[in-house]
Amino acid sequence: MNLKIYLIIIIFFLISFIPFNSNYLIAQQEGGKYTIVIHGGAGYFSKDTPEEIKQQYINSLTEALNIGKNILSGGGTSLDAVEKVINYLEDNILFNAGRGAVFTSEGKHELDASIMQGKDLTSGAVAGVTIIKNPISLARLVMEKTEHVLFAGRGADELGIQFGVDIVPNSYFHDSTNYHKWLRSNLPKQQGETVGCVALDNYSNITAGTSTGGRQNKMPGRVGDSPLINAGTYANNKTCGVSATGIGELFIKNTAAFIISALMEYKGYTLKQACDELIFNRLPENSGGIIAVDKEGNFEMPFNTYSMMRAAANNKGVFKVEIWK
Ligand code: ASP
Repeated sequence: MNLKIYLIIIIFFLISFIPFNSNYLIAQQEGGKYTIVIHGGAGYFSKDTPEEIKQQYINSLTEALNIGKNILSGGGTSLDAVEKVINYLEDNILFNAGRGAVFTSEGKHELDASIMQGKDLTSGAVAGVTIIKNPISLARLVMEKTEHVLFAGRGADELGIQFGVDIVPNSYFHDSTNYHKWLRSNLPKQQGETVGCVALDNYSNITAGTSTGGRQNKMPGRVGDSPLINAGTYANNKTCGVSATGIGELFIKNTAAFIISALMEYKGYTLKQACDELIFNRLPENSGGIIAVDKEGNFEMPFNTYSMMRAAANNKGVFKVEIWK
């Protein structure tokens, strides 16, 4: 008798547990659908760079990729993934964004950033900010909390103070190694190590973001493509999301980020065909590169410079970090 009751309890327990368990498995599989790509700038990162420095870049890109991957695989949004990945790269001295922003011709720092969501084409951007620790977070606040898209200069800095984001003195961006490189540099207006991230989440929303200190030795007040929606950043859930890096003036001239989406939407190009058309046919050689993800989760990372720091991961097991072709 006792044994019978005992068996009934066990059977009852197992039956009630099975549906819960299989639901949980389905939820896990669904929660896992994502693609994320990151760039750390297109340029001329020499293969002869000391191994230890190469490793620092690879480790940083790996860490950035893990931050985004963990958010997305845990069911988080592409908006959070893009912001947090870029925050990490902005706080990392190795990259030309946030902390490691390059010097203007006056030896100061002016930072640009933008972010866009594919689900409703909303976007936010800041240009020429001088005291904002994480420009991409202020760009997100512009998108979410104002009726505007782009704030520049003093007004953008003041908006950051009003919103209570982290404020730093301009000297926070001054790094003595970078400063000595800048003093020695006789190659004006170089590009490189700008950061960007594009992600597709489990809710089929694509977010793209870009953050930069601009081009080394840029004239004070110069604004590049990175804070310009359609040039440096674009996202549309009907097609794809894009973040660009390179000589901003050429990316502005070619409406670079938007043209990829437009080629897909209006001419039926695949993501690869559209990216290749921009990078290898429309932009001149040595002008830069892009990272892009389409609505199916395919990704592309073409560039026409010597190097482009980049990383990609998805729920199908891709996890890679690359610098050269
Ligand atoms: N596109 C950025 C600019 O022109 C620079 C870069 O990507 O390295 O400001």
